[in-house]
Amino acid sequence: MRLEECTIYITLEPCPMCAGAIVQARIPRVVFGATSPKAGFGGSLINVLQMEALNHRCEVVQGVGQEESSDLLKQYFKNMRNKKTKE
Ligand SMILES: [Zn+2]
Repeated sequence: MRLEECTIYITLEPCPMCAGAIVQARIPRVVFGATSPKAGFGGSLINVLQMEALNHRCEVVQGVGQEESSDLLKQYFKNMRNKKTKE
């Protein structure tokens, strides 16, 4: 499915699979909060979203709500860890 008139807003910089799906869907604009230094394919490790070799490139806006996004992700993973230790 092509999403050529959409903007995607995400808390975390996309991983390789998500970045690939975004390019395949031809999403023109990607807005994300927190960067992902160890797994980010929106510019941290590799920039799949703006790769010359691919047939679609996105406008990328990063750092929007960075602190809020980072806090949400930290809380989410903390909850996941606590849930696992209780099972
Ligand atoms: Zn992903």
